[in-house]
Amino acid sequence: MENKSLSCPVCQSNKAEIAGENIKLSGQFEKKEFLTTPLTVLKCVRCGYYMFFDSTAKFTTKEELEKN
Ligand SMILES: [Zn+2]
Repeated sequence: MENKSLSCPVCQSNKAEIAGENIKLSGQFEKKEFLTTPLTVLKCVRCGYYMFFDSTAKFTTKEELEKN
């Protein structure tokens, strides 16, 4: 597992591990089925909060994430 430096929106921990890559989520919205583009799922190592990012995102620091 690779640790990434970013800030958890719940506990502000800057440690997260990759829980999954190229994950597609499906569901229903207003009676229409949808499927997301492939996502990278990060899990906060402190509180377990799941964060979803476009799989093209690069994870370094929060500041760099906001630039992209
Ligand atoms: Zn957290």
